[in-house]
Amino acid sequence: MSVRVRIAPSPTGKLHIGTARTAIFNWLFARHNNGTFVLRIEDTDLERSRPEHTQNIMEGLSWLGLTWDEGPFCQTQRMELYHQKIQDLLDKGLVYRAYDTPEELDAMREAQKARNEAPRYDNRHRHLTPEQCAAFEAEGRKPVLRFKIEDDREISWNDLVRGTVTWKGRDLGGDMVIARAAEGSNIGQPLYNFVVVVDDVDMQISHIIRGEDHIGNTPKQILLYEALGATLPLFGHTPLILNTAGAKLSKRDGVTSISDFQQMGYTAEAIANYMTLLGWSPPEGMAEIFSIEEAAANFGFERVNKAGAKFDWDKLNWLNSQYLHKMPIDQLTDRLVPYWQAADYALDPQDRSWLEQLTALLAPSLVRLEDAVAMSKYLFIADVGFTEEAATQLRQDNVATALKGIIAALEATPSLTEGNVQEVIQAGVKAASVKKGVVMRSLRAALTGDMHGPDLVQSWLLLNQHQMDLPRLKQALALSMGS
Ligand code: GLU
Repeated sequence: MSVRVRIAPSPTGKLHIGTARTAIFNWLFARHNNGTFVLRIEDTDLERSRPEHTQNIMEGLSWLGLTWDEGPFCQTQRMELYHQKIQDLLDKGLVYRAYDTPEELDAMREAQKARNEAPRYDNRHRHLTPEQCAAFEAEGRKPVLRFKIEDDREISWNDLVRGTVTWKGRDLGGDMVIARAAEGSNIGQPLYNFVVVVDDVDMQISHIIRGEDHIGNTPKQILLYEALGATLPLFGHTPLILNTAGAKLSKRDGVTSISDFQQMGYTAEAIANYMTLLGWSPPEGMAEIFSIEEAAANFGFERVNKAGAKFDWDKLNWLNSQYLHKMPIDQLTDRLVPYWQAADYALDPQDRSWLEQLTALLAPSLVRLEDAVAMSKYLFIADVGFTEEAATQLRQDNVATALKGIIAALEATPSLTEGNVQEVIQAGVKAASVKKGVVMRSLRAALTGDMHGPDLVQSWLLLNQHQMDLPRLKQALALSMGS
């Protein structure tokens, strides 16, 4: 059997991390089996679907490297097929029109609640006569289409992740609505459980790999496969991504869309790697840091976990920092430039060598690309000011004398280099007769306005190339002397 899988996002929001993780598992499975990965946009919810979300979803999948082989197919362009299939089921007597008003359905549920029963449709319109239907229509009622679900059916499948799963027909909520209300004999907007099956059959999907939140839909869909006379695919329900409290990760947990992670400066490689680990354990001997191609070579459902996976920011940050630390400096520079530009830092594209030196300076401390903005502020903004801690350092005894020594030596040095910078520092040590540590701390305070940051000498050399060091030292001296 040739493997054909699909990701079927609904464009009702940006590409969600859960959908992206499902896409990864489908992609890994397709690539592992030389199969086909199909992209289908499930946009039948006309009120909530937006073209910009479709765009965001496709960009996110591409960014993660999840290339699709077929599609995007949009369900709104396939209505004729759905209508035809609904008509077939109506003709076979497996689907019928139900005319209940919302008030009647509410009253039915209230009565069930009062009897301590689970809410369900009690199939009351399953056997209406043509006269009854005509009477309801004469009242102006618009029918929905319901698919018959027999209470005494048992539905079982061998789930790729969870093993045998069994449902009873009576637990599926009664005859299921497959199309919204429409006038008389028209067919209204078809709904998810129906169109998903029609499409999966039509696109010859062999394995349905999706989140565990869909497990309750699967028995209903299996009944629809049978009704349509189609061969059943295999199903695999992957564990959900949970927040730290153990609940399903949702918008309330803050960042949940792939484009937000991208904006924060996570690399696509780290996100894809991390999401694969959220639910799949690499085989013995395989490192935890891997490309999706490496994961695909080793992927199989026997190593997909059943339990939900907690989203762990520390782990993701660690992975991302690993990718950033080993990225070639020119590539990392290219990735950082948009962040500096977005922060309105004045960049001189001609000054590529300065930018690459700066990147090399920051690289070992970067966790996310976005971090570079705050970390390099003192190298771009002339007047960064001084933190309280830095000001306290500069007001210490002897610091003004040390700074004067340094300024004099610097003014006498035509260009500061790695070779002569230590002499300039020594001039400060000598002038104030203090330990080198005092001079270094004072220099950090003076040059960067802060007591913490990347390597000081390298920072100074970068500042010097842009003639930003002398004015800062003079400003620090003024502060140090109490003016
Ligand atoms: N449109 C559905 C979703 O986004 C697809 C579910 C499925 O894979 O069947 O959840």
